[in-house]
Amino acid sequence: MAADFNYHGDVVVFDLDDTLFRERDYCRSGFRVIERRLLSEVGESFAGIAAGMDRILTARGNYFDMLQQRLEAIGRADMMPLLVGDYRSHIAENLQMAEGVAPLLDALASRGVVMAIVTDGRSSTQRAKIKSLGLDRYVHPDNIVISEESGSDKSVADNFSRIVDRYPEARRFYYVADNERKDFMMPNLLGWITCRVAYDDDNVHPDFQAEDPLCSPSLRLQSIASLLDLI
Ligand SMILES: [Mg+2]
Repeated sequence: MAADFNYHGDVVVFDLDDTLFRERDYCRSGFRVIERRLLSEVGESFAGIAAGMDRILTARGNYFDMLQQRLEAIGRADMMPLLVGDYRSHIAENLQMAEGVAPLLDALASRGVVMAIVTDGRSSTQRAKIKSLGLDRYVHPDNIVISEESGSDKSVADNFSRIVDRYPEARRFYYVADNERKDFMMPNLLGWITCRVAYDDDNVHPDFQAEDPLCSPSLRLQSIASLLDLI
């Protein structure tokens, strides 16, 4: 990954899930993929399984446990790896950016601001989301860092440092993310400006405000669009 010594502007790095889009939309889309396969390969008894998994998601339960139990009940637990694979590799239908994200990315792009994504997750899953959302129009392929591909996650500085190494002359680095449990410690240690976005209702990971200043964001944004006021 070649370094760009000529870029002197800001670099805005985004988390993916529940920052650029609503993770629950992706989950629901995956539940429908699972239901379709079960309806065609097992039978009508699985009609409505997607809605059932969605209810468990809303209650913050483990929807794959429920699926496993339903399959065990009919002696088809062997289908579990296939269905989980379907879920993780599916290209979500009609995945939309969260409110305010598209105009923000358009505005940053028009100002020539470099953007990047640092996300924890499986390569196939995260790549499929990025493709479905059309984020590759805004973010250079070398600026997309996914934990399964890089071999390290947000608990260490490596994935963030890769972005710094790529833009060694940049003015400031921002990390925009939603989860105070794990998103902000490393960029804080690197001296980045960390910004938390929160959507009103049912984030997949419940709202949590870190008490440790090391884990707290520099700023809690009223809306993701307000990022434009900073840059
Ligand atoms: Mg997130």
